[in-house]
Amino acid sequence: MRLPMYLFIVLGLFAGPAVQAGEIDHSRSQADCENDFINSLKAEEILEGPEYEIFLEVVTVFKRDNPPRLYFSPGYGNAVYIARSVISDGRGKILIAEELKNLLGVSPALRAIFAHEMAHLVLDKGEAGCDSLMIRSIKVEEETDALAAHTIGFEPMRELFLKTESREWSKCPEIPIRLQTLNKLESEDKKLMRDLVYSLF
Ligand SMILES: [Zn+2]
Repeated sequence: MRLPMYLFIVLGLFAGPAVQAGEIDHSRSQADCENDFINSLKAEEILEGPEYEIFLEVVTVFKRDNPPRLYFSPGYGNAVYIARSVISDGRGKILIAEELKNLLGVSPALRAIFAHEMAHLVLDKGEAGCDSLMIRSIKVEEETDALAAHTIGFEPMRELFLKTESREWSKCPEIPIRLQTLNKLESEDKKLMRDLVYSLF
C-alpha cells in the first residue's frame, strides 16, 4: 500500500512525522488528505477543557475570530499545523500529541506550543498543501518562533524549549540554535525599545 505524503509544518523539536514520505497522490483532495491524516493518528477533536481554554486565549491574541479546529492524538509525538488547512475551511487544523500535552501540562509552555502552531497558520500562504513535499527548514521555524514570541512573549517560548529539551524522545539538535536566535531577537528588541525611549526625551 502506498502511504500518502503530508506536509508537516511542525514545531521541529521532536521526532519526525509519523507517516513516511512517499509518492505524491494528486488524486486526493486537500480535505481527504486532512481527514486521512487525522484518522490515521486517531486524533480526537477537542472542544472543551482547560487546555482548550488556553488555546482559545491564544487564538484571541492572534486576532482570529474563527478558531482553528484542535485535535489531540495518542499516536503522534509532535505538534503540527496541517498545511493549507486554514485556506481550505477558513479555520485550519492543529494537532498536538497527547504525550506532548501531558509533558507541558497547563502551563505557559502549552500556550507557547499553541502560539507556535498558530504562527504557522497565520503565515500559511497556501504554497504547499497537505499532500505536498515535506518542507521544514530551521529558518521557517525561527520565523515562526519569532512571531509566536512577539505575540505571547519570549518567556513562554523559552519555557517550551527548556521543557521539551529535557526529554530524550524530543531531543533535536535544532533546539539550542532556535533558543539562541530567540534570545538574540529579544535583546535586539530591548535595544530598539531603549533607543525609542531615549529618542523621546
Ligand atoms: Zn514549527
